Amino acid sequence: MKFADLHLHTFFSDGTFSPEELAGHGARLGFSALALTDHDTVEGCARMAAACAEADMEFIPGAELTAEHRGTEVHLLGLFLDAQNEKLRSEIAVFQAVRQDRIREMAARLNELGVPLEAESVFALANCRSPGRPHVARALVKAGLVRNLDEAFERFLKKNRPAWVPKARMSALEGIEIIHQAGGLAVMAHPGLNRTDAVIPDLVEAGLDGLECFHTKHSTAMAERYLQIADQFHLLVTGGSDCHGFSKGKPLIGTVKLPYAHVDKLKATRTSRVAANSKPLQSQGS
Ligand SMILES: [Zn+2]
Ligand SMILES: [Zn+2]
Repeated sequence: MKFADLHLHTFFSDGTFSPEELAGHGARLGFSALALTDHDTVEGCARMAAACAEADMEFIPGAELTAEHRGTEVHLLGLFLDAQNEKLRSEIAVFQAVRQDRIREMAARLNELGVPLEAESVFALANCRSPGRPHVARALVKAGLVRNLDEAFERFLKKNRPAWVPKARMSALEGIEIIHQAGGLAVMAHPGLNRTDAVIPDLVEAGLDGLECFHTKHSTAMAERYLQIADQFHLLVTGGSDCHGFSKGKPLIGTVKLPYAHVDKLKATRTSRVAANSKPLQSQGS
């Protein structure tokens, strides 16, 4: 049976694997298709495409956008994105600047607490344009300011800890629009993790295409429930491990194996949408 992982991160955001390492793990585990969904960036897609081609796997370019709707944080996966799309690239540049400001703010708070971490050391270690909290944690460990990543999060970086800075978020409706105009399908990531059930109807109204029913942190019962919700709202079904390499413990790739039939459905939807968008106007009426 063919299967896929449609939620993966590399060191182009807060994962630790290179695209080549990630593709290598995917091939070894027998995957037929992988999607790259780094946070707020499509930079890794070209290398990942080449690595997947080399390993004879299908590649789906994507990204994960942090958004919000009515005060609820929603992660949106854009799948089948055109990584060259102008608007996508310019919006991404804005989010990346916001992320970098957040790192500076976290460093400033740490300094106030007497922890001498410089934002520049986080940027140097991250070596990517989408730095996040795991990079701050690693920089703290590297500088000998905490013993390990857990301590970094527990003492400083977890939500409501003294150096925590909320993530700036775009509106989910805007996120769906950005994904669509870049040719992608918009999928709500790990609804069971973010507890975003209440906003599903609004996002469906705004054009949401799919629901990530299968995720490492979804129990079987949860996956079952989201399959029902997907069915109820006529949403496509996706699934992925959300593997970050070693930055959040053990690599998770292989923990979720999405049956390939779902990828076929995603591709069919995308193909029919591309066809509808390129149809000349006169053929739509009468
Ligand atoms: Zn997420
Ligand atoms: Zn993710």
